[in-house]
Amino acid sequence: MARLSLFDDFDVYNRPQECPMCGGVMIFKGCGEYKCEQCKHIEYDDYGKVRNYIEKNKGVTAAQAAQATGVNQKTIRTMLKEGRLEIAPGSNAYLKCEICGVSLRSGRVCPRCEVEFNRRMEAKLHERHSKMMSGFGLGAGGEEGAKRFIREKEI
Ligand SMILES: [Zn+2]
Ligand SMILES: [Zn+2]
Repeated sequence: MARLSLFDDFDVYNRPQECPMCGGVMIFKGCGEYKCEQCKHIEYDDYGKVRNYIEKNKGVTAAQAAQATGVNQKTIRTMLKEGRLEIAPGSNAYLKCEICGVSLRSGRVCPRCEVEFNRRMEAKLHERHSKMMSGFGLGAGGEEGAKRFIREKEI
């Protein structure tokens, strides 16, 4: 149970939850990228936005990245400190996963916990989504979505 609450408390960088295009659940793809399971629209969280920007514009400062992405500079500094971004080389030798405690070379959580966290979030969103959708009667995508959800839970 303690582990569950750590997942619940874990704070991500404005993770997109619902698709701005169709209201579908946004599924975590890795590296701050999320894809709508219904219309395949792609959204990024703050980390994804900044990471993309820095990849395309090597050598930018945190201030420039903040201005270009709209992500606040303090958040970018935190990402840098955490080693999630690589603007400047730093020593990340003593980082630990905030959820399971495994040692990490970069980031706040290990890749396994990151995926697990996002799957839990998606399960919650599916629950909310299906409650919302049941009001209108289910569309054609409903059953497929439900099956996919069950498959993911089994993994
Ligand atoms: Zn969508
Ligand atoms: Zn972990």
